[in-house]
Amino acid sequence: MKLSLVVPCYNEAENICAFHDAVAEAFSNCGYDYELVFIDDGSRDATLFNLKKLYNRTTTPMKIISFSRNFGKEAAIYAGLEHAAGDYITLIDADLQQRPEIVRDMVAYLDENPDFDMVAAYQDRRGEGKVLSFFKKAFYSIINKLSNVNLQKDASDFRTFRRSVAESILSIHEYHRFSKGIFAWVGYKTHYLPYTACKRAAGSSKWSFRKLTNYAIDGIIGFSTRPLRLATYLGSLTALAALLYLIVVVLQKLIVGIDVPGFATIIVLILLLGGMQLFCIGIIGEYVGRTFEQSKNRPIYLAKETLGCDE
Ligand code: UDP
Ligand code: MG
Repeated sequence: MKLSLVVPCYNEAENICAFHDAVAEAFSNCGYDYELVFIDDGSRDATLFNLKKLYNRTTTPMKIISFSRNFGKEAAIYAGLEHAAGDYITLIDADLQQRPEIVRDMVAYLDENPDFDMVAAYQDRRGEGKVLSFFKKAFYSIINKLSNVNLQKDASDFRTFRRSVAESILSIHEYHRFSKGIFAWVGYKTHYLPYTACKRAAGSSKWSFRKLTNYAIDGIIGFSTRPLRLATYLGSLTALAALLYLIVVVLQKLIVGIDVPGFATIIVLILLLGGMQLFCIGIIGEYVGRTFEQSKNRPIYLAKETLGCDE
């Protein structure tokens, strides 16, 4: 098998057929064989039903992995990689925002450039709102400063890579999967290709601003321990400031002889220190929480049903 298309689907009932047809059209007379690996990520609509219908009518080799509940796109990608049989593997969304024609270019690029292992599409952001654009920019600059990995700006999950890359990704068993970071972490020589995301064919995006924020925090915490150091710095700085202030107070008392009117100062200091301590405990808590969840060693996903998979 030359190519596996891994397609995470969460409530994509209306898009399944259109997606399949678009792929079939894009890959007609491509000259190599490919398979479709669909992951139904605990959809609540007719996604699984439609996938099964498609399974019975299509001539393209096809696999379905259906999760017992919604585990998230990252888990779906993991399951897809586990079941993909192709020499090349493509991650692509089911909503046709990412055109399958581009995948052919990616495959062609890998064929022509044996020294490259991965082709990743990055999004032309010209059509995007200013506010979101600003936050995304801020996110990339923060995470690139804080962590050891270097994230390519706007690079998406839409990418094609060789089997070796897939195996490297599968060897990462972490529970909190932040795929942008994982791709950067595994390395490999990557070619970046610009693309313009189309409008969603049907349904709505699963990303809200709140979800994006949480995702960003997950990314930063998952790939850097620098925020912990921030707590150390913050603590040392406050201690130093307190010491200086102590000296000032003592001098005032001894030399000038004034009683320090302490009420307001105390309130302010208590609030400041309390806030800072809670902030630092919060940062530590983020890491402890993740350690806890990872130490439970739970599986990344649970499949309740598979179709077309060998085992
Ligand atoms: N998706 C998924 N599980 C989720 C959320 C999304 O498998 O919990 C899939 C979704 O069906 C789609 C892809 O991930 O195929 C991208 O999701 P979406 O289109 O909502 O994201 P956007 O394109 O807006 O970034
Ligand atoms: Mg989408």
